[in-house]
Amino acid sequence: MAFDVDMIKGVYAQLGDRVAAARTAVGRPLTLTEKILYAHLYNGAATQAYERGKSYVDFAPDRVAMQDATAQMALLQFMQAGRPTVAVPSSVHCDHLIQARVGAEQDLSEAYTENKEVYDFLASVSNKYGIGFWKPGAGIIHTVVQENYAFPGGMMIGTDSHTPNAGGVGMIAIGVGGADAVDVMAGMAWELKFPKVIGVKLTGKMSGWTAAKDVILKVAGILTVKGGTGAIVEYFGEGANNISCSGKATICNMGAEIGATTSVFSYDQKMRDYLVGTERAEIAELADQVAEHLRADDEVMANPEAFYDQLIEINLSELEPHVNGPFTPDAAWPISQFAAAVREHNWPAKLEVGLIGSCTNSSYEDLTRAASLAQQAIDKGLAVNAEYTITPGSEVVRYTAERDGILDTFAEIGGVVLANACGPCIGQWARHTDDPKRKNSIITSFNRNFAKRNDGNPNTHAFVASPEIVTAFAIAGDLTFNPLTDTLPNKNGEQVMLDEPMGIEFPVKGFAVEDAGYVAPAADGSAVSVVVDPCSDRLQLLEPFKPWNGQDLMGLKLLIKAQGKCTTDHISMAGPWLKYRGHLDNISNNMLIGAINAYNGEANSVKSQLVRGGGYDEVPKVARTYKAAGLGSVVVGDENYGEGSSREHAAMEPRFLGVQVVLVKSFARIHETNLKKQGMLALTFANKEDYERIEEDDVLDIIGLTNFTPGVPLKVRLTHKDGSTYTFDANHTYNEGQIEWFKAGSALNLIRLQQNQ
Ligand code: SF4
Repeated sequence: MAFDVDMIKGVYAQLGDRVAAARTAVGRPLTLTEKILYAHLYNGAATQAYERGKSYVDFAPDRVAMQDATAQMALLQFMQAGRPTVAVPSSVHCDHLIQARVGAEQDLSEAYTENKEVYDFLASVSNKYGIGFWKPGAGIIHTVVQENYAFPGGMMIGTDSHTPNAGGVGMIAIGVGGADAVDVMAGMAWELKFPKVIGVKLTGKMSGWTAAKDVILKVAGILTVKGGTGAIVEYFGEGANNISCSGKATICNMGAEIGATTSVFSYDQKMRDYLVGTERAEIAELADQVAEHLRADDEVMANPEAFYDQLIEINLSELEPHVNGPFTPDAAWPISQFAAAVREHNWPAKLEVGLIGSCTNSSYEDLTRAASLAQQAIDKGLAVNAEYTITPGSEVVRYTAERDGILDTFAEIGGVVLANACGPCIGQWARHTDDPKRKNSIITSFNRNFAKRNDGNPNTHAFVASPEIVTAFAIAGDLTFNPLTDTLPNKNGEQVMLDEPMGIEFPVKGFAVEDAGYVAPAADGSAVSVVVDPCSDRLQLLEPFKPWNGQDLMGLKLLIKAQGKCTTDHISMAGPWLKYRGHLDNISNNMLIGAINAYNGEANSVKSQLVRGGGYDEVPKVARTYKAAGLGSVVVGDENYGEGSSREHAAMEPRFLGVQVVLVKSFARIHETNLKKQGMLALTFANKEDYERIEEDDVLDIIGLTNFTPGVPLKVRLTHKDGSTYTFDANHTYNEGQIEWFKAGSALNLIRLQQNQ
């Protein structure tokens, strides 16, 4: 059994009291989102109300899930914490590193060879520290979590942006960076700005060609890619009760496309059926007992305008199937208007590939609905005019679909079943094409469709739709076809129509699997050794950063004064560097290579103060020369330094290459915290004009650290090349605990010290 029933019992045991305390603290009825969040406060039951969209709050999530690309650095860091096991149930899923080339079996076997060292590492760390390990081929993180771990009223974080998928099973599930996962696994609080709550009231009932996917495609059109930022989207209403649990998961999954923190549905009969159908009747019975806390209060339902920050209403009975794209998931086209849009915008009408499945849309219901159309193509003598691939979300779904003949039906129309992995959804797709420069169209039932996302080709126009619409288009091979109204010629020259798709929510014979791909960790992992090849260029065990030496920081060299925008991408670029995300030394060669040097306007070209006469070189190289000479260095930056993502590499790399201070006009908050966690000094100019005082050959001293106190500025003394000096104030936001991180050399060092006491 992969799920942890005792943990769930613990959450439910205190749910009623915590919700009651929250209602008292807030002084009004609560939305479901608020109930779950207040029930997961790090410091216990609520004693005060938090302001939505304003207050920063410490939470204690119940679970952590990690995918193989992001898990590497997260686990390398976790190992630094000195804990014998993870503080909360956690799991690792090998899904992102498998490339789709020819088909499931061969692709999986090649991935095993190519990524062996990463898989061995993840398996051994999981085994040692009590983490559930899902082998390559077991499935995609979110589908596996949905089938095994998600539970109504729970809270989890996952190191992947589509973690909100678990909201379909009533969980507040949020995508985070590796550093956040480390915090929670190490037993620390996890901080989040208390989100706003957007209500989506669903009325009516879907029928015919309309699917759950169309709800989120419609919502994306309304809210756009930024409309959900800082908010949790809460779905409710009688229409919600008519959507299958896996359909709810599809809707929540794609909440990431509108920038939402996450999305969530209330516990209902469909959710209950899903828990029972996935062999978790025990959890369904536990949830039944606390059902009143697993939905918004009645007063909220009766008067939603008064309780949600924004309210949207969708009548499912009137909802048309949608196609969204190209290049952005919020360009929403009802199917009745899509053909005209294709013509008007001159998008390639010829469809080259239809791809169904992924973590977003590969439920049994999805596959049976798509297969019902494939069967019609066979029965009605229709040719299939585009390539067609199927990516099952998990081995459970794949095995069951194979047993029930669904995969045979797909094979009969030329469908290729890919590995139970991300594959084309994340660009791991060796697509064969005669001419990559040709404008071309594909359509997927995935979630993202930004340029180059699927096949790396900027000329590919990717559209997103439900699996049944994708299948109908693949049969037609033409994006101007409307399956609701148009006919297609069959092999006998007759014009035929596709009937509405028919699906089965749960397999009649139940789900089945031979090997789900789960490896339980050792009961006592103390004797397990972690496998890392010392010669590996992809993985490297971390050494703890050195603690503070108890003195002011003197004689620091200016490494770079960055000008203008400096995001986490400028600080630690992605793309080809992702390969090294488990190897701090190697990935540090991308440190700040995208930042613009204020003195010459160039990227990755800074002056080395150690070269007589002042030679220019790449930023990481200059940093390494300072480090080799035993000198610390300083990065100076502009406004909102470190905006973008929570990528922890952007804080770890400077720390690794000897940068001790990052001094900027202002920080993006998450990056500032990440710097603090790595034991660095994150400072801001008390007077922003002082940014101009920093000269290219400056040496900096940081004064006042022996009395490092919350709220008290530090002093920065510049010594210019001509020997003159200038001293100014630098502010900081360290609290007492964060000052201890600085002194220990990092937050993880401090945890390790505390473990050993
Ligand atoms: Fe992310 Fe796509 Fe993989 Fe889902 S299938 S986890 S969306 S890459």
